Amino acid sequence: MIGGGIAGVSAAARLAEQGASVVLVEAEATLAFHTTGRSAAQYLENYGNDEVRKLTLASKASLLPFLGPRPELMVGREPRVEALKAQVEHAKTLVPTTEFLDGDQAREILPILRPEIAGALWEPDSKDIDVASYHQNFVQRFRAADGTIHTSAPVRSLERTEGSWRVVAGEHTLAAPVVVNAAGAWGDRIGELAGAQPLGLHPLRRTIAIAAIPEHFDADEVRRWPITAFQPDDRSGMIGYCKPEPGGLLVSPADETPSEPCDAKPEEHDVALGLHNLAAFTTLEVRHVRSTWAGLRTFTSDRTPVSGYDPAVDGFYWLVGQGGYGIHTADALAQATAANIGDAAWPDRLIELGLTPSHVAADRPGLAGPLTDGY
Ligand SMILES: Cc1cc2nc3c(=O)[nH]c(=O)nc-3n(C[C@H](O)[C@H](O)[C@H](O)COP(=O)(O)OP(=O)(O)OC[C@H]3O[C@@H](n4cnc5c(N)ncnc54)[C@H](O)[C@@H]3O)c2cc1C
Repeated sequence: MIGGGIAGVSAAARLAEQGASVVLVEAEATLAFHTTGRSAAQYLENYGNDEVRKLTLASKASLLPFLGPRPELMVGREPRVEALKAQVEHAKTLVPTTEFLDGDQAREILPILRPEIAGALWEPDSKDIDVASYHQNFVQRFRAADGTIHTSAPVRSLERTEGSWRVVAGEHTLAAPVVVNAAGAWGDRIGELAGAQPLGLHPLRRTIAIAAIPEHFDADEVRRWPITAFQPDDRSGMIGYCKPEPGGLLVSPADETPSEPCDAKPEEHDVALGLHNLAAFTTLEVRHVRSTWAGLRTFTSDRTPVSGYDPAVDGFYWLVGQGGYGIHTADALAQATAANIGDAAWPDRLIELGLTPSHVAADRPGLAGPLTDGY
C-alpha cells in the first residue's frame, strides 16, 4: 500500500482484516501529513455527483462513532432560488431529509446571513468528522491485524518480474504480488513508476483560514452555527464556505487552483478572497486571521474516485481521485478495494445503492478528458 492518508490506511486495514499480508509505505515521517490532515472535516451526503454520494452513504456506518452535529446550509441570492429548489428535489432522492428554506428561515438558523440571501438547501444530517481519530482508528485496526507501516519511506522504483513487484521505498526493498497506489496528489507519478498510463489526475489547491470571531458573539451560539456554503448568482457550486472551529470560524474561498503534487501552501490572495466572499454573504466583520493552510484535492476528470486494477499493468491497483470527499467516502472505497483484491464480497450497501465495480473502475468511460464542473 503506497500512501498513509485516509485512503491508504482504510484500505490497508480492510485488506489486513480479511487476512492479506499488507505493508504500508509512506513518504513522510508522519501519516496524514498531506491532504488528510488538512480537510474541513465535514460529512456531507449531498456533496459531489451521485456516485460520490452513494460512496458517502455506504461509508456512514464506519464513520458514526467519529461524527458530531454540524448541519449544512447552502445559501444563495434571488437568482439562485429556483435552482436551489431543484437541487433540493434531486438531493431528496438519496437524502430525504434535505429541505429548501427561504431567506428568513435560513437567517433564523444563521442570523449573520445578509438580507439578500433568498433561499437555501438545508442538510440537517450533515456532520463534523473527527478526522484524526477516524484515521487513527484505521491505523490501530491495521496494526491489530498484523499490518506493517514504514514511514519516511518514499517509493522510488517499482519493477514487475515473474508476477511480483519489487518496491524500493526509502531504505526498504519489498516484494508484493499487488501494489495499491493510494498516493493522493502523487497518484499519476506512482502510476508512471509502475509503467502505467497516467489517469490524468487533477490536484487542485484549496485554502483555509481560521478567522477570529468578534468577542460580542455568544460562544455557545456560534458553536451551533451550521457549515454554510455560498452559491454564486450564475451557477451551482460554491464560491466559499465557513464553519465554526475551536478558536474561530473556518473560512474557505472554495478555490480550485491547479497544482503540481507538493506540500501546498496558502496564498495571501486566496485568504483575502475567502474573507471577501464571507463578507458578501454575511454581516460578520473579520479583523484578524489566526492561522491558514492549504491542501490539494485531487480529482479524476469526472470527479468520481477510482478503486480498480490498471487495465494494462498486471497487479497495479489505483485508489485515487478522492477529491473533496475522501474522508467521507473512504470506507466504501476501502471495502471496494478489499473486494477487488481479496476475497471479500462487493459491499452490500453499494449493491443496495446500485453502485457496481465498473462505476469506480480505472478504465471507465469518461475518466480521461477535461475536468468536469463541480465543487
Ligand atoms: C481544504 C480541504 C478541505 C477538505 N474537506 C473535506 C471534507 O470536509 N470532507 C471530506 O470527506 N474530504 C475533504 N477534503 C478531501 C480529503 O481531505 C481528501 O479527499 C483525502 O484526504 C484524500 O486522502 P488520500 O489518502 O487520498 O490523500 P493524502 O492524505 O494526501 O495521502 C496520500 C499520501 O501518499 C503519500 N505519498 C505520495 N507519494 C508517495 C511515495 N512516492 N511513496 C510513499 N508515499 C507517498 C503522501 O505523502 C501522502 O501522505 C478536503 C481537502 C482539502 C484540501
